[in-house]
Amino acid sequence: MRIGIFGGSFNPPHMGHINSLLTVQKKAGLDRVHVVPAAQNPLKIEIEGPSAEQRLELVRQSLKSYGKHFFVDDQELRRGGLSYTIDTVMSLRKDVDPEDLYLIIGADQFENFSQWKDYKKILTEANLIVTTRPGWAIPQEANELPEYFKDLVAEYDFNFIELKTGRNVQFIRLEDVEVSASEVRKLLRANRPVEKVLPLSVESYIRENGLYRPIGDKIGDFAKFTSFCGDILFSKKAIQVRGFDLTGISAPSEYTLIASGTSTRHASSMAENVVQAVKEEYNVLPQSIEGVDEGRWVLVDYGSLIIHVFYDYVRQEYSLEKLWKDGKDLNLKDPYIK
Ligand code: ATP
Repeated sequence: MRIGIFGGSFNPPHMGHINSLLTVQKKAGLDRVHVVPAAQNPLKIEIEGPSAEQRLELVRQSLKSYGKHFFVDDQELRRGGLSYTIDTVMSLRKDVDPEDLYLIIGADQFENFSQWKDYKKILTEANLIVTTRPGWAIPQEANELPEYFKDLVAEYDFNFIELKTGRNVQFIRLEDVEVSASEVRKLLRANRPVEKVLPLSVESYIRENGLYRPIGDKIGDFAKFTSFCGDILFSKKAIQVRGFDLTGISAPSEYTLIASGTSTRHASSMAENVVQAVKEEYNVLPQSIEGVDEGRWVLVDYGSLIIHVFYDYVRQEYSLEKLWKDGKDLNLKDPYIK
């Protein structure tokens, strides 16, 4: 028996996942693929969205018409906390020999695979299948392999690599399905059509359960919320905190905040402080957060409020304030300066 493992946040599961599962199962001749929703991916920041049980149900819905090869495995949700693939691999290893176990990941994940806990052990306990994904290249020759990976290679033969660990890696080309879960969440929140990117059963479950709606209701008064977030930024010594009411102009949000830090680290940590404080006070997580790893321009999206936290040097390059000159300046004042 050849057994596959396909993990992910599945927030929500989409046609990119289905396409990969169906193609890989067939091309690699897998007898069964465990589809394993993560409780929390350690490399992703927690965002607002469905509960773990709802994501599990979404995965079930997404696969219900695709038959016997796919097994929805809830072990990471049962373990809870941060989900590490090595734990899932080791639990399946109790019943499956390493040469029969295949971990399936997209080309995006192959690039950052060295950040995964015990990745070398994973490559000892299971084979790897790397699929194409629009926007990410798969290596065409040995010298295009990521640096972290080169030392592990025993023999390279275009789409197939023998590893020194005894396992192998194969690259599988998929038909391009250009979609990501983050993109789907944006479409759903904006009430835009999703039928091309979501299985119908998933879309119906989302609609029936009111998932991925804008988070406005939980926040209520966004003017007050904006000044709350502004105060957190002031308390963390942000440079030039400015807030705008954009309700009168055409803009992606009704309110916006902009601030900067003296370093990329300062910017990232301020964004994280805001997320933490909002979670404590409002019990709400952002709809999305981007750029926090680099800290040059961190964008925290609370729907009707979008917060931009820059490394000050980068802020000057963009001068976003110019875009909002017709909005209403909230003239935020540092409450810590009396
Ligand atoms: P997000 O946008 O929230 O980061 P995602 O769309 O990347 O999510 P995940 O659930 O994190 O989805 O991905 C699970 C697995 O599916 C990963 O190995 C990823 O590479 C793969 N995958 C996701 N989208 C596609 C796609 N369009 N084509 C091929 N593989 C994909």
